[in-house]
Amino acid sequence: MLAKLFGSSGVRGLVNFDLTPVLACKVATAVATHAKAKRAVVAKDTRVSGDMIEAALVAGLTACGTEVLLAGQIPTPVCAYATKTFGADVGFMLTASHNPPQYNGIKVFNNNALSYTDADQESVEKIVAENQPSLADWRALGSTVQVDATQAYMDMAQKAVTLKKHWHVVVDPGCGAAFSVAPTLLKTLGCKVTALNAQPDGHFPARKSEPNAETLQYLSKTVKALGADIGIAFDGDADRVAFIDENGAFVNFDRSLAAYGALALKRNGGGIVVTNVEASMCVETMAEKFGGKVVRTRIGDIYVSEAIERDGAVFGGEPCGAWVHPKQHLCPDGPLSAALFLAALEETGKTVSEFVGEAPEYITIRENFVCKNSAKYQVVEKLGVTLKEAFAGYTDFSTVDGVRLALKNGWLLVRASGTEPLIRLTVEGESEAAAKDITQKATALIEAQTR
Ligand code: MG
Repeated sequence: MLAKLFGSSGVRGLVNFDLTPVLACKVATAVATHAKAKRAVVAKDTRVSGDMIEAALVAGLTACGTEVLLAGQIPTPVCAYATKTFGADVGFMLTASHNPPQYNGIKVFNNNALSYTDADQESVEKIVAENQPSLADWRALGSTVQVDATQAYMDMAQKAVTLKKHWHVVVDPGCGAAFSVAPTLLKTLGCKVTALNAQPDGHFPARKSEPNAETLQYLSKTVKALGADIGIAFDGDADRVAFIDENGAFVNFDRSLAAYGALALKRNGGGIVVTNVEASMCVETMAEKFGGKVVRTRIGDIYVSEAIERDGAVFGGEPCGAWVHPKQHLCPDGPLSAALFLAALEETGKTVSEFVGEAPEYITIRENFVCKNSAKYQVVEKLGVTLKEAFAGYTDFSTVDGVRLALKNGWLLVRASGTEPLIRLTVEGESEAAAKDITQKATALIEAQTR
């Protein structure tokens, strides 16, 4: 039995160890077979291995008779959007997102800019395992052509956002895929743009590609030193965005998600916002102000996008900066989110810190418990029963991803780690006392099951 190829964000691994050109070629032929693909978009982030994986992918696709549109180094959302606008059957983004430079991966999109679902992935994995791709007759092999995928994306973004103020923005693509699109878009919208780390470099020499308070220290300092309005940063493939406020402080992902979600609901006069099981309950607090409802999914942006489409939600995202704007398309989109965030500030007349300051800040506690891989899923299932008994006043119980109980003064989530022999507990409380109380009670129950 072949190991599972697809993780929560496509095929990903260490280059020439997990992810080899041979594997990339197999994935390409299997996807082309599954999608009966006549046309495919192929794009990449700035990683050193991008050319190699691209060449292998193109060999597989053309072998199946697929016409390949080569879009070059662009962000993941631009690739997803191009798949839709170019009328391709499938889109491939070569990226390992926020992982270190020695990693690469393959994200696959359907013709609606939606990431491959579990069902699609299973079908592709089966074709790879059985080694049964549909190869074309030599007279029907595919060809390649270079395309400019950015123009249609820019048009879409400019239609979505108009800014009156000349915002001073410090933008930091971290030498990743947004190096051109993000500064260009912000300039086009009339911003005064100072760009850091905006040269494409697959070694990611300037900072780690995961945007967080620690990796964005230089951006924070620059925003403060220049007296800029905002700092904007992306991960390696720019499906995520992170903000620095006008004082140079890193903006908490949960609070920006909650504040933006609330505005989306206000504009719409209510509706649904989608987020995952791990996001702060400040998303609910803010949504309820505008008569909105929050739907929670498993962790993974594909599940958020699927739920948005299914429920007709106005907005959705994960608290890592992956935001989905369904009016435009269904792929998490860093540059578009940045532009829409500026429009939100303009609409509300607030600074970054004032806008996100509307969302309450709760207390989060995380604990790990050692538990054998062979037992961890069963233990979590059992804990569902005991936790319900122990927290009898719970207001909601969900097994969409692990076990999640919403309580009057907080919530708790118990999940088996996907990769390690661990059970993870996440607790959020209205106050520190509440968070500690919930953690203590849950810890005793988990320890009794894992001892
Ligand atoms: Mg990413």
